[in-house]
Amino acid sequence: MYLAGIDLGGTGIKAGLVDQNLSLVCKTSIPTGVERGYVQVINDMAGAIISLAEKNSIPVSQIASIGIGIPGFARKGIATAVNLYWIDVPLESEMKTHIDVPVFADNDATVAAVYEYHLGALKGCDVGVLLTLGTGLGSGIIINGKPFSGAHGMGGELGHIEIVPDGVPCTCGNKGCLETYTTATALIRQGRRCVVERPESRLHHLTGGELDKVTAKLVLDCAKEGDHIALAIVDEFVKHLAMGIGTIENILDPDVIALGGGVSAAGEFLLERVIKASANKGIFANQKYADIKLAISGNDAGIIGAAMLGLS
Ligand SMILES: [Zn+2]
Repeated sequence: MYLAGIDLGGTGIKAGLVDQNLSLVCKTSIPTGVERGYVQVINDMAGAIISLAEKNSIPVSQIASIGIGIPGFARKGIATAVNLYWIDVPLESEMKTHIDVPVFADNDATVAAVYEYHLGALKGCDVGVLLTLGTGLGSGIIINGKPFSGAHGMGGELGHIEIVPDGVPCTCGNKGCLETYTTATALIRQGRRCVVERPESRLHHLTGGELDKVTAKLVLDCAKEGDHIALAIVDEFVKHLAMGIGTIENILDPDVIALGGGVSAAGEFLLERVIKASANKGIFANQKYADIKLAISGNDAGIIGAAMLGLS
């Protein structure tokens, strides 16, 4: 039997089939074409799976389930994804008109956590949390081997824990969310401020004062090289992330908190600092709290993790 996985994004659909060894055996990608409406998009997702099966001589009857990662949330087969202009779309029933197998859909960060649970940093966890530090802060929670999204499918949005009252405005409409301090976007914002206010800084020197040249990687690289102004930006980032981690520990007490997303490419340099800053954030002294690790975020994790929704 095979598990079908679909990584549905605003611009592209990636689809693949995973075998019993949890190996991706084939994949394809097509444009999403959001503007055509959900019926056509779901038709194309089903078509991608069927044509993959045919091309690889796999009978469609050998596909046990279809898992779909979406940039939004789903409950009871109904999907909402603002970037796709999807509000209460009957994803499961519409997909079943094409391929009548169990259909699972979940938030794409939750799908990434499912991937880490089966193949990566959350393997063997009773309770595991993935934080993806990218443009935004995605988060996925695994409890007893199953993704946890709350009573209405909207839970586990750890990026929107408020950590600074009246802080930086967030895309969600609130202020001071964890996401606004602990993402690539935050590093760029602070890096640009540094370029403007600190002409003596290495960031100013390397960018020639051009704000468009400030990237999260550049801020992290300057910090790695020991530039004290860039290091201060990273320290602020880490301090806020540790506040979020403390809250997560006090609510969920996970075995592992894994860090993924583009910022985590800074590797051990970042990890060491996060571990140090997060120590003693749990309320009980001298007790074992979560191991903090780097996610493996393998190739095609979005497709494979989506397929693995069929295992839970
Ligand atoms: Zn927010």
